[in-house]
Amino acid sequence: MPAQFAVTVTPGLSAPENPASTEQKAPGDMKQLIGLTTGELETMAAELGQPAYRGRQLASWLYRRGAETVEDMTDLPRGMRQRLANAYVVGLPAVAHKDVSQDETVKYLMRQCDGLTIESVYLPYPGRVSGCLSTQVGCPAGCTFCATAQGGLARNLSAGEIIGQFLRMQIESDRRISHVVYMGMGEPLWNYEAVVKSLRLLGDEVGLSMRNLTVSTVGVVPGIRALTKEDLPITLALSLHAPNDELRSTLIPTARKWKLEEILDACAEYARTTHRNLTYEYLLIGGINDAPELARELAARLKANHLPGNVNLIPFNYVETPQGFRSPTRESILRFRAELEKAGRVTTQRMTRGHTISAACGQLRRHAELEQGSLLPLRDKQTSQTLKLYGSSPGESGC
Ligand code: SAH
Repeated sequence: MPAQFAVTVTPGLSAPENPASTEQKAPGDMKQLIGLTTGELETMAAELGQPAYRGRQLASWLYRRGAETVEDMTDLPRGMRQRLANAYVVGLPAVAHKDVSQDETVKYLMRQCDGLTIESVYLPYPGRVSGCLSTQVGCPAGCTFCATAQGGLARNLSAGEIIGQFLRMQIESDRRISHVVYMGMGEPLWNYEAVVKSLRLLGDEVGLSMRNLTVSTVGVVPGIRALTKEDLPITLALSLHAPNDELRSTLIPTARKWKLEEILDACAEYARTTHRNLTYEYLLIGGINDAPELARELAARLKANHLPGNVNLIPFNYVETPQGFRSPTRESILRFRAELEKAGRVTTQRMTRGHTISAACGQLRRHAELEQGSLLPLRDKQTSQTLKLYGSSPGESGC
């Protein structure tokens, strides 16, 4: 659930609702500061008998100055800090595990306040740095090639938890993270409100250009239609992976619910209304969806639907699957790409970064659990076991 903010100083309220209370709360009852807007923090400052600018100072500490605890905010009056700390934590996730690749990609396993773990990736390029964020703990989509899908969904992340991943990676990095992709664990458009709030926080509070934010979806049509109306100049990426429903539904279970025609129609409306280009992600799996005729079919389909935008080819990063999926050969990638370009479609190929650290979606968590000997059987989606799969001990989280 998104972090809710409701501060009204009413006599008799318990500490989380009333920051003026002097009663110290148990760690599990604390609310998170990250996720609140400057306006909400100004209201909180007023409730504490402080001028509004104290709220703006708080926002600056949280979103731009890397505060990890309320105590770090040294220019706030001591009394205010004490009362805040009685009811609130900053709410940054802790780094539970970290793998650095030879190409300097860093894959993080981050532990949330309740002990559950998610993955985030730091991707440094020569001219810029990108952060890849998760939007859910696990994922309900069930894509057959994806390691995250094998554990099911534990819960949604709040807006604060989504941007907390960015803030933690920014604290760890000497370079400024300028771009963000929502391509980690989860389906962003199934956690719509928190995701939209987190995009606004990254733009308005952290100060990133909205044009540098990309949301990737498996094709949740109501979500695409809602996003069209938000007036957010972000980039939408559609995970296509196949040019027709027959093949697509063998890879993506939700393809049985939302047919390609409906998805592409929603995307075309998105492009027309927002004047933003889309990106199409195409995961290439050897012998499954990498034939040149499928590239021709894909180009024709996008053209017929009047869809602008680049196709991003992603070679399958090996994950053990019941179907025995394998990576595509170099030749098949080049052939597929050549067919798309012959048809006039600009095509990029995702650099396979972080190979040495299992940087495909959901792989780090699986590896960490394998090491600990706690990995559950594939496709076991019982809720209690799902929670176990994502870890449930609070450990040394930043809360
Ligand atoms: N649910 C959203 C976002 C999360 S998945 C979506 O489907 O778009 C983001 C991307 O991770 C997908 O486009 C998919 O191509 C990629 N991915 C998942 N498993 C992968 C694997 N084994 N190898 C390479 N990329 C993978």
